Amino acid sequence: MPVARRFFLTRAAALMSAAVLPLAPLRGWAVTTLTAGGLRIDSVSDGHIEFPSDFAFSMIPEAERGDLLRSLDIDPQAVLRSPLNVTLLRQADRVVLFDVGSGSDFMPTAGTLVDALAAIDVAPEDVTDVIFTHGHPDHLWGVLDDFDEPLFAKAAHRMGEVEFEYWTHPATIDTIGADRQSFAAGAIRRLTALGGRVERFADGAEVLPGIRAVMTPGHTPGHMSFAVGTPAEGLFVTGDFVTMLAGFARPDLGAATDHDPALAARTRRATLARLAEEGWTILGYHLPQGGIGTVARAGDAYAFVLRA
Ligand SMILES: [Zn+2]
Repeated sequence: MPVARRFFLTRAAALMSAAVLPLAPLRGWAVTTLTAGGLRIDSVSDGHIEFPSDFAFSMIPEAERGDLLRSLDIDPQAVLRSPLNVTLLRQADRVVLFDVGSGSDFMPTAGTLVDALAAIDVAPEDVTDVIFTHGHPDHLWGVLDDFDEPLFAKAAHRMGEVEFEYWTHPATIDTIGADRQSFAAGAIRRLTALGGRVERFADGAEVLPGIRAVMTPGHTPGHMSFAVGTPAEGLFVTGDFVTMLAGFARPDLGAATDHDPALAARTRRATLARLAEEGWTILGYHLPQGGIGTVARAGDAYAFVLRA
């Protein structure tokens, strides 16, 4: 989600004060549930984040933008409200979170994860495992409590080794670019506070029994998705390899929030092809209505099909 917080807040505040848009709340901390092969999977809301449309859709050529977005029922002029869907997986004694939301420091519309978990009787200390897709604020910053202690105090924390190296490397804050420096500062502070708690894993590793890491780089250098179980009875946790419906329709276009748009586009095309072919159910971190659905292919394009 690489848009600097200051940039976002300034732009969003300008839009809101102009009273251009009604800003009704999204789905609060509602939960969408799926059961498959002994797994119980909940899409738990951390709220949402907002982007000005000219930033969010900047990678779509202007000549195509209006038609493409209207075909997806998206108003090309409106602020993009991007949901934050944290995957909670329960199987036998394990309570696994994929990413932990934004915490209280990122955007006022985000940071509802703990309340959302409480609504389904899950306390932070019940969580046995936290697995990160990547180090962006809306995925990582909720990991510490108000005293900078690990919020999920009894959980093992895991992150892909390339991703961990990137965000903890002292040079990253100087090379990431001015717009995203706050992301680097926020990530290294949190990962340092977690200290030796963060176990690292490689592409293809079985992170936990039945949970396989699938490196999907481009959105960030070491971005990971996760294949849980099998396509017939399981779930593919996307993270941010695809972040919006336009990414399905035009996977070849980069997204404004991608670290390396060209690599992200190659990853997106290949991964969507695989998911459509194998018939996975996916849970998309930023996709609408809880983000649980499947990937349909139509020629060179794809579509997200919300689970009925
Ligand atoms: Zn994100």
